[in-house]
Amino acid sequence: MSNKRTKNQEQILKLINNNSEEMSAQNLHFQIQQHGLRIGLATVYRTLKLLKIEGEIQERVTPDGESFYSTINSVYHHYHHLNCVNCGKSYPMNICPLSQKITDWCHSQKFKVYYHTLEFFGLCAACQDQDIASECLSAN
Ligand SMILES: [Zn+2]
Ligand SMILES: [Zn+2]
Repeated sequence: MSNKRTKNQEQILKLINNNSEEMSAQNLHFQIQQHGLRIGLATVYRTLKLLKIEGEIQERVTPDGESFYSTINSVYHHYHHLNCVNCGKSYPMNICPLSQKITDWCHSQKFKVYYHTLEFFGLCAACQDQDIASECLSAN
């Protein structure tokens, strides 16, 4: 893809690239305003979609349904996560369990892979210690 980006789109990409942590669209919009730029939230969302199609950024959706965006090139962002379905915390894993075999297979399908995600869901150590079931019952 060789679309020519607008100045606003370039600014948004620069902000994402310069950020070591993943950001929500709202967070990104806030930073845009901090930088004195006048870019509306709708433009931010449109740009995020464009940058995803171009393979510049990736999106991670948390168990709560919130999307976080980050640059694909960043080391941090190749993290997989353990996600707690009770407290909603995400714990980054510092290993990638995917083998070269899978990558090779994707290439054999003539599919251009930008990135992959792998998320695990369950209960974190702290939540396992809680009596969640009886808490849910007593909440009624
Ligand atoms: Zn938890
Ligand atoms: Zn991986």
